[in-house]
Amino acid sequence: MSKVPLKEIHHQVDFCVVGGGMAGLIAAMSAARHGAKVLLMNDRPVLGGNASSEIRMWIRGCHGRNNQETGILEEILLENMYRNPDRNYSIWDSILFEKAKMEPNITLLLNTSCNSLTMDGQRIKSVRAWQLTTYTWHTVQARHFAHCSGDSILAPLSGAEYRMGREAASEFGEDIGPEVEDKQTMGMTCMIQARETGRPVTFISPVWAAKFDDEDMLKYRGHDLSSYTTNFWWMELGGNQDSIHDTEELRDELLKIAFGVWDHIKNVGDHGAQHWDLE
Ligand SMILES: Cc1cc2nc3c(=O)[nH]c(=O)nc-3n(C[C@H](O)[C@H](O)[C@H](O)COP(=O)(O)OP(=O)(O)OC[C@H]3O[C@@H](n4cnc5c(N)ncnc54)[C@H](O)[C@@H]3O)c2cc1C
Repeated sequence: MSKVPLKEIHHQVDFCVVGGGMAGLIAAMSAARHGAKVLLMNDRPVLGGNASSEIRMWIRGCHGRNNQETGILEEILLENMYRNPDRNYSIWDSILFEKAKMEPNITLLLNTSCNSLTMDGQRIKSVRAWQLTTYTWHTVQARHFAHCSGDSILAPLSGAEYRMGREAASEFGEDIGPEVEDKQTMGMTCMIQARETGRPVTFISPVWAAKFDDEDMLKYRGHDLSSYTTNFWWMELGGNQDSIHDTEELRDELLKIAFGVWDHIKNVGDHGAQHWDLE
């Protein structure tokens, strides 16, 4: 028997992108097509971040009459429209994967989480990241870094100034906004999705789920499946809490609520859900 340390791989590139949501993927593709040697790391197994199959926010930033996305984002959306007209999220994931994987100048590291860095004066010199699936540490030295992690990991690691919450209206001369700055952010939500099966389906709620036994408890919160427009955006928590550090607590609470709401839809009164199954 011998003592084998964890594997370490060093990379030297022109441009390192931390975070493989739409911002990071497109930054990486753009730089690579201009000839830069790029490393793109993402801490999840799929690209797309909030737009991936894991969160399922379709890209809708620019839509409506006479509005259209352009550039690489539009290239990806057109490819998806052609190959994935039914908007299946697994196919969408595969298109994003292919965009990064088939770009010759991009090294793609999935399941790789950046958690430390070194500085050279005011500039980032290298970042270090852990790849969960291969039990490997990756150190990436680059001339430029792009910070695309959504939750801003490079800011606290590098000591850069950043803000979380809402600024006072007076700071930038806004007419709406709080008088005094505070820590509030958007809340967090937990998506529930259901499918119609064409046969009766029962649902037994887990013992830890919330109980909404009375119709009044969900008053003004649309949850009738017979209405085409039913969605559950009202199931949101955490805007008053820290939506990074309290995430696990909020997730557990949202899961309780999500299962409780589904229990209500299936088992309390008639919500047109007899043939629906939780997906
Ligand atoms: C429910 C919901 C509704 C929304 N509605 C709208 C809307 O209507 N209009 C709108 O414009 N925007 C909306 N947004 C916001 C929109 O999704 C984001 O603005 C957009 O996703 C930002 O893209 P991004 O690539 O910057 O970050 P993200 O999509 O957050 O991607 C960041 C990626 O970085 C990865 N990452 C994080 N930390 C690390 C790390 N340490 N190392 C490596 N990788 C890391 C993450 O896993 C993720 O894959 C909504 C978001 C949600 C969740």
